[in-house]
Amino acid sequence: MYINGQWIESDKTFGVINPATGEEIGRVVDGNQSDAAAAIDAAHAAQKSWQATTAYERSAILYKAWQLMMAQHEALAELMTREQGKPLKASRNEVKYAADFLLWFAEEAKRIYGETIPSGRSDQRFIVQYQAVGVVAAVTPWNYPISMLTRKIGPALAAGCTVVLKPAESTPLCAIAVIKILEEAGVPAGVVNLVTALDPKPIGTEFCTNPKVRKLTFTGSTAVGKKLATDAAPYLKRVSMELGGHAPFIVYEDADPVHAAKGATLVKFLNTGQACISPNRIYVHKNIMGPFIETITARVNKMKAGNGMDAGIAIGPLVNDAAVAKAQNQVQDAVSKGAVVHTGGQRLVADGLDQGFFYAPTVLSGVTNDMLIYSEETFGPVAAIIPFDDDDDIIAMANDTHYGLAAYIYTQNLKKAMRTFEGLEFGIIGINDINPTSAAAPFGGMKSSGLGREGAREGLMEYLETKLGGFSI
Ligand code: ADP
Repeated sequence: MYINGQWIESDKTFGVINPATGEEIGRVVDGNQSDAAAAIDAAHAAQKSWQATTAYERSAILYKAWQLMMAQHEALAELMTREQGKPLKASRNEVKYAADFLLWFAEEAKRIYGETIPSGRSDQRFIVQYQAVGVVAAVTPWNYPISMLTRKIGPALAAGCTVVLKPAESTPLCAIAVIKILEEAGVPAGVVNLVTALDPKPIGTEFCTNPKVRKLTFTGSTAVGKKLATDAAPYLKRVSMELGGHAPFIVYEDADPVHAAKGATLVKFLNTGQACISPNRIYVHKNIMGPFIETITARVNKMKAGNGMDAGIAIGPLVNDAAVAKAQNQVQDAVSKGAVVHTGGQRLVADGLDQGFFYAPTVLSGVTNDMLIYSEETFGPVAAIIPFDDDDDIIAMANDTHYGLAAYIYTQNLKKAMRTFEGLEFGIIGINDINPTSAAAPFGGMKSSGLGREGAREGLMEYLETKLGGFSI
């Protein structure tokens, strides 16, 4: 743990497991509620002086952190693959994406402009300034164990906030590596603090109920996000919630089914399906179903599962046994109700994969709305294909979920693209595009997918209070 600029050791530790091999790759301190309180005290004590630094000073530190992260790019990617399991190439992409947030917010720190507003009174002037919210408590997930940290810490520091971070219990080593970079970049003692813990609940309780925390930012499941937002509500803390998704991927009849299937394969199996923007319902017009299924199945058959450190691996392990069981259960349920398995459909155990948590990349067609996979987030490598034939119904079908994070549309028809874009109740929409994400673009969901946005200018505003001055002159 890292509290008030000190690395804290303890006899009480927990192990970190490589999900590809089941081996323990490290042990970290098992923190408790009083550690979280101490970290909050440190962040609170550092808040005033950090907030008083100039935007240029904060920007320089973030810029230095960006440089350090890029310099350690390969080592960080290898650590991520060992700890989280994604193929090395995907880890490299994530480190770059993570570093992008440091650079973007280093730049944006200098552009927290206020405004002047004309008054109806000739003796009055209005000015608006933005100032740091205060101490930020951040809870982050295991699926993107570096970029989800910089996406919160970058804007928080740029805004002049101090931070206490609790990373996911399965990926604390990546979090430690990020904090070391921030320390080396010159972040003063107390400004960023790290509490690692096997049981997140007591830390969450402290984050939600300690009045010194003014903002809670969370990325994870909808169930936990709702609980934390509820617990923080009596204290009227600001909350940002980046939660689950159930992305529709709509392929209209006029789209090129081969091109769309290639896109669907890339985005569905990204991070072995463990992404909140992963397509969970792939709606394909029935007249182009044949070539779509043929292409996606052929592509998936070429995907090799294994340890992400090995060359040519496209499918890494799932996070744990429960994740394998969930994918298995959804596939069995779908098949029992009439879905067809084109490839995959079972746990992978051959060639030593039984030591890790591997599920075969799977393509299912004939999925219907009575199947679990139609409404439950999969978070695994299962592509669920649903036929449709009426364009007038498809937007309502896609919106028929309590989630509202990402959606994808494939069409060559501009009018259809625009109408669907405007009709979908989702925060991030790719139109003939499978990667509508960037440090410069707002990321976040509607409905049960969350509150607030991360990245972009909006991601910075989440850490700022608006202050109005009315001057009588
Ligand atoms: P996932 O299903 O992706 O693991 P979770 O929502 O369980 O998502 O986990 C995301 C983050 O939330 C992790 O850092 C985890 O430790 C944390 N978390 C889970 N339960 C709680 C809780 N009750 N209070 C605070 N944090 C929690």
